[in-house]
Amino acid sequence: MNTPIVRPLAELRDKVRDWKCRGETIGVVPTMGALHEGHLSLVRAAKAACDRVIVTLFVNPRQFNNAEDFAKYPRTEHADAALLGPLGVDLLFVPDGNEVYPPEHATVISVSGVTGPLEGAHRPGHFDGVATVVTLLFNMTQADRAFFGEKDWQQLQLVRRLALDLKLPIEIVPCPCVRAPDGLALSSRNQRLTPEGRSRAAALPRTLFDAARRIEAGEPAAGTLTAARAELEAAGIGPVEYLELRDGETLQAPQRGRPARLLVAAWLDGVRLIDNVAVVLP
Ligand code: AMP
Repeated sequence: MNTPIVRPLAELRDKVRDWKCRGETIGVVPTMGALHEGHLSLVRAAKAACDRVIVTLFVNPRQFNNAEDFAKYPRTEHADAALLGPLGVDLLFVPDGNEVYPPEHATVISVSGVTGPLEGAHRPGHFDGVATVVTLLFNMTQADRAFFGEKDWQQLQLVRRLALDLKLPIEIVPCPCVRAPDGLALSSRNQRLTPEGRSRAAALPRTLFDAARRIEAGEPAAGTLTAARAELEAAGIGPVEYLELRDGETLQAPQRGRPARLLVAAWLDGVRLIDNVAVVLP
């Protein structure tokens, strides 16, 4: 059976009130739909940790800095509800854009620091859109726990910062990145790759992991990253927007003795791909 779709906020609030009255815990998995195994892994983690699970599906216009990307974003609501049914998700919340952002809506949530570099520098406005919609979704669902993928590493750090700074009564649960057998991180945008592009895409995680290993083995990061960029471009992946080693939590310069992260964004076939991997600094 498909997971029931709920659209009006009032209906969601009724359900949430019932569950809370019974003392049940609620998990939320925020998504933009076109669900794949990556999303489903978050749902399974939520089911294992919470009595009730809400998946939200909202293609948030405020986090797209590119109108074409928004227009082309895959929308597969009914297939998504069918995928969630067997996992025992209680409801799929698909709010109306006008209810999320009525014309008089005037509040923007903006997180500084962690959002400055990388995605923040290359996608102006993106993280304000993410922070605002995540806050709205937390308030609408009243969830006790929210599940986010490490695939979007910088976004995960933003959400953690936001929840801490605003003292939101919600636990942020990180979930590992799910990859295809050739290593490519699953993403709704991968559907837009041509078959030829899809076969070339495996060079992205391969080069990323290889550079991480070399840095962990003591090779100087700057030279390793210059060589890795050239490897990506030689494999037909480019332009490379960034390929940078950062502190895993603050996304500022990496520091010895703290977890670091190597993060990349690059274009292939007109599709923007992002990925990241942990690095233990020598
Ligand atoms: P999206 O629908 O792309 O906004 O993603 C919704 C949630 O699913 C975010 O927390 C993502 O980080 C997570 N997610 C997307 N792809 C993956 C993946 N391959 N592995 C794990 N989580 C993912």
